[in-house]
Amino acid sequence: MSSAPEKLTPMMQQYFEVKRGLPKDIILMFRLGDFYEMFHDDAATASKICGLTLTKRGETPMAGIPHHAADNYITKLLAAGKKIAICDQAEPAKAGKLVRRAVTRILSPGTTLAANQLDAQRNHYLCALTLDKAGLHAAWLDLSTGEFRVATDARPENLLPVLTALDPAELILIEGDLERWKTAPHDQSAIHALHAFCEPRLCTDLPGYHFETAEGLRTVTTILGVLNLQGFGLAHDHPALGPAGALVHYATENLCAKPENLRSLQEYRSARTLLLDPATLRNLEIFQSSRGTRDGSLLSAINRTGTAAGARLLERWLAAPTLDLAEIQRRSALVGELLADPLHLGELREWLDNVRDIPRILGRLQNRLRNPRELGGIRDTLSQLPAIRATLSAFGPNSQLSSLNSQLEELPSLLQLLTSALADALPNDLADGNYIRAGHCPELDRLRSLTTDNKTWLSDLERGEQERTGIRSLKIKFTNNFGYYIEITKANLHLVPPDYIRRQTTVNGERYVTEDLRTKEKEIFHAEENALAREQALFAALVAAVLDESIALARTADTLAELDVLAGWSVLAREWDYCQPVLDEGDTLEIIEGRHPVVEQMLKDPAVAAGRGTTSFVPNDTLLSSTDAQLALITGPNMAGKSTYIRQVALITLLAQVGCWTPAKTCRVGLVDRIFSRVGASDDLARGNSTFMVEMNETANILNNATDRSLIILDEIGRGTSTYDGLSIAWAVVEHLHRDPERGPRTLFATHYQELTQLEKHLARLRNFSVAVKEWNDEIVFVRRVIPGAADRSYGIQVARLAGLPITVIDRAKVILQKLESDDTSVELPSAATPKARPKKKITVTPEDNAQLNLL
Ligand code: ADP
Repeated sequence: MSSAPEKLTPMMQQYFEVKRGLPKDIILMFRLGDFYEMFHDDAATASKICGLTLTKRGETPMAGIPHHAADNYITKLLAAGKKIAICDQAEPAKAGKLVRRAVTRILSPGTTLAANQLDAQRNHYLCALTLDKAGLHAAWLDLSTGEFRVATDARPENLLPVLTALDPAELILIEGDLERWKTAPHDQSAIHALHAFCEPRLCTDLPGYHFETAEGLRTVTTILGVLNLQGFGLAHDHPALGPAGALVHYATENLCAKPENLRSLQEYRSARTLLLDPATLRNLEIFQSSRGTRDGSLLSAINRTGTAAGARLLERWLAAPTLDLAEIQRRSALVGELLADPLHLGELREWLDNVRDIPRILGRLQNRLRNPRELGGIRDTLSQLPAIRATLSAFGPNSQLSSLNSQLEELPSLLQLLTSALADALPNDLADGNYIRAGHCPELDRLRSLTTDNKTWLSDLERGEQERTGIRSLKIKFTNNFGYYIEITKANLHLVPPDYIRRQTTVNGERYVTEDLRTKEKEIFHAEENALAREQALFAALVAAVLDESIALARTADTLAELDVLAGWSVLAREWDYCQPVLDEGDTLEIIEGRHPVVEQMLKDPAVAAGRGTTSFVPNDTLLSSTDAQLALITGPNMAGKSTYIRQVALITLLAQVGCWTPAKTCRVGLVDRIFSRVGASDDLARGNSTFMVEMNETANILNNATDRSLIILDEIGRGTSTYDGLSIAWAVVEHLHRDPERGPRTLFATHYQELTQLEKHLARLRNFSVAVKEWNDEIVFVRRVIPGAADRSYGIQVARLAGLPITVIDRAKVILQKLESDDTSVELPSAATPKARPKKKITVTPEDNAQLNLL
């Protein structure tokens, strides 16, 4: 900005002063009259993103947006990852004097609060990170709801899964950290994972001193209004207090005020959570399908919530499933109780449908974003509570629901106040008025009646003047610029009485005022202004009354969200015939007639079913135990259903551990500490990693981090390289997972390497399974049944035929296969081309081979 032209108008000087006070990457929206104007690069950027016309004032490029439409443009800019500073007039305009202006709010993707800039169904996190010798330290904050957490872990890999699942909208990092991490004294794969987490996200850099622990402790205790953090179980030197302090600092800068809705700080511990690493979240399509849509994900398949806060809680539960057995059992039992009484369940869900987004409404009220319609949301929600509580009581006094019931606070006097004070229909904008109900405040009623009386006075005046002048067409009109006036058409100008004062000539006639009209106009304006001021004061008192109860309201809202998720799961369980899983601390996993929760639902869609030639999902059993049947090796042709099967086992386990019921006839889960997966091709290719590299990275992560309590699903390991290499790696991986003589992680291993099935002879805890197919006239039919024993062949050619490969190619492939299998390498070649090197014969493994392969 130093290159700004010498001679600036006072207004532009003021603009540059404000601009200089802001970081470079922030777009400044500068209020001029009814517009927000942007200049120079800001104007160019905004015009490109929002399709605004770029104009010029002198040599200065500029772009403007009407202030009342600013929200739409801001939403677009935020979606494009931009930050925006709103600079408003800080005093009423006076002719001839430059009005003072100040930044009133900075909006960034991670700190915005407006309803239209947030996805109601999703949490919206701002997250700060530091990495040092002691490990990775993180703090995250959803400013819209006040949820605030810290976590630290010596191994970044333990923390990154949950951070990835929370999917923060913006990261706060120490300046230069992304570069510095490259040489940090940590495992390279951890650093790789950290970069993979940060790089696709919007990162905001702050100087390192904002991240100091002592400073963080001060900032955090001040904002929470406590002397120390003992009440939250946090030490005064918790290493994540640095990032927590940076978050509060950043939020304060952006709100241009302290965030008022932070009430507690909770510690997240990875040791208490079922960890799903980022690759697994993606592979198992937990939050998003492989196409990047919410449709087709596990989340959407099990979401039956009716409220936004419920949908967000479901997302949080899935992102960090607890390992607390009692808590999981509590949720699952509640689902059972709700399910047992369909009538009252239905009623409860109807009441819940009318519950509004209390956590976010509170968040906005606390942070000065006030809107009458949202205050109405609190009234409307409170008014549902007596019915919700009565319905819950109907489940009986011994029901576990009664403890949830007792957490709901009806707040009758607040409800009474809001009902008597707020009008039925409410505007969004405070400046619109008419949100306080008539009869609530005698003074307001008096001011309003003045306005109405005056309006009657005006129509009386109009009639009187028509009679006095004899001009039938005489009208009293109003415009914003002009106020009230009497309009006389040209034809009647000769009848105008002498006391009329001419103000303006128009095409059709003349506009007049009278002394009486002027006096009355002042009275009307005054009464309207007074009424609005009065309404705003009453509104402020209502907001204060609501905020007085914010703790009770927040607790009630949390309980409603929980009820919503659980009631939704009951409906899901009934709809799809789910069973209540048995959970224990044991080491088995036993599923009878399990189904894939997402594929099962998709198959019911007639369009999908027609494409796949089936309408119903074939259930399958699973039995794994870390000390006995630890490793299930699943063979079978492509398309038989191997991936679906191993994924379904992982998903059923996850569902059981979040407290949901499961798509199976019966299900028993010995708690799992981590679910790992290595399945399918990955989209990491865009980051310049080959398929094989990604596959090996993911496999390395599994082998390095799996414990005896983990569940692993592996699909087609070693496919990205030559057959021998691939087979050897797959072989060694299986052996590694089985290396402990006593126990190992429960594993499902799907593979097309027939050779691996021989390992059953050598590894005591390995079991062979295959997905059955029926052969008929050289064609195969998929029956989708997982049966004990290895598959006999791979049926690749039959599957290729199903895929529509030309029959000549199929026939030729059969000839080649026969020759290869009969050990005859003299395949007649139709051209000079030589086929690629392939294993000449099936591998038979002798103990010596085994020893040799072990060396690989
Ligand atoms: P593979 O991994 O063996 O190549 P997939 O698991 O990808 O096979 O399954 C192939 C197709 O079969 C998928 O479209 C899937 O929807 C369908 N499928 C798999 N398992 C079942 C099942 N148990 N019941 C019905 N359809 C299934």
